[in-house]
Amino acid sequence: MRVVVTGGAGFIGSALVRYLVLDRGWDVLNVDKLTYAANLQSLATVANKNNHKFVHADICDADAMARTIAEFQPDAVMHLAAESHVDRSIMSSAEFIKTNILGTHVLLEASRHYWDRLSAERRENFRFLHVSTDEVYGSLEPGCFFVESTAYDPRSPYSASKASSDHLVSAWRETYGLPALITNCSNNYGPYHFPEKLIPLVLLNALEKRPLPVYGDGRQVRDWLYVEDHVKALTLVLERGRVGETYNVGGRAPMENISVVERICDVLDALRPDGESRRKLITFVADRPGHDRRYAIDPSKIETELGWRAQNTFETGIEATIRWYLNNEWWWRPLREGVYSGARLGLLPSQQDGAGALAEQVV
Ligand code: NAD
Repeated sequence: MRVVVTGGAGFIGSALVRYLVLDRGWDVLNVDKLTYAANLQSLATVANKNNHKFVHADICDADAMARTIAEFQPDAVMHLAAESHVDRSIMSSAEFIKTNILGTHVLLEASRHYWDRLSAERRENFRFLHVSTDEVYGSLEPGCFFVESTAYDPRSPYSASKASSDHLVSAWRETYGLPALITNCSNNYGPYHFPEKLIPLVLLNALEKRPLPVYGDGRQVRDWLYVEDHVKALTLVLERGRVGETYNVGGRAPMENISVVERICDVLDALRPDGESRRKLITFVADRPGHDRRYAIDPSKIETELGWRAQNTFETGIEATIRWYLNNEWWWRPLREGVYSGARLGLLPSQQDGAGALAEQVV
């Protein structure tokens, strides 16, 4: 297989590239703009492999996308490039609209024109896989789960931009026949995760004995999936998924944020004891504006149709993640000291006083 992966220097993209290049032996062309969220160090193990090529390009650049795809002659495009952090989308939405919506449009058009000119057999086998999020479905009541037919109800600039991109992909499938599929996945965690997201932020703050910021009352529910299980799901959907279908991907691990933070403290205390329990560092801070209360995926479709199942539980995945961060300070230390040191993101101006000011102090 020859595959273009967009966003392959990011968290999930780099896990996907490592899996395809090292475990599957596929030829991968990795297209990434190298925003703050990208890290070429995450690709160290594939950097010298003949079946991995990197192209520094913006998916919004129509000429670059058309040229890159035409030259590489892929059998598939796996589209992960995006602005991905909800808090940043609250502070500054323009890049989210540009990359997530307009960039997806550019990539769809470049893929369509390329696909149109393929031989009949290659046209039949070509696939465009769009990687999206469960956040497009909005917030759930307790006890409910997202299924593929759940109505879209995005609440944040990030989720609205991803919802728009999902609709574009569906429209390109219906209107032009582009053989596209969509996956909507729950929250990922694992090695090489940029430390602005909850799990790596808490883990590294706990290691450094800094306050562990928990938004609001900490009772928001997220459904956690180990990133290596996600990339296997993406590959399976690409290989065996039915064209035009959506597959929800989740690890059947819905948990309250506070429980996730406590679990990180406990595993870290066990692996690297440091006197007192790190739970003492937990600090409740101003909630995220419009914070969705509960996400939880019902992954029955991908499990029964394609035989995928998450191989990690939250317990095994979080321990593997914590061990990885303990052993790979070379990867995260420069990020903490350079790109992002843990400051609070995503507060509205009206929240900058009171609870907001507290939040600014504690992280
Ligand atoms: P990430 O922020 O870690 O990485 C995104 C990558 O895209 C970065 O390498 C960045 O440089 C690149 N990129 C951004 N704008 C670009 C542009 N204009 N052109 C080319 N490259 C660009 O994100 P992630 O967490 O790895 O998420 C990857 C995809 O999976 C996203 O589409 C996201 O919406 C989706 N997703 C993420 C999660 C999650 O929990 N992280 C869950 C479900 C779905």
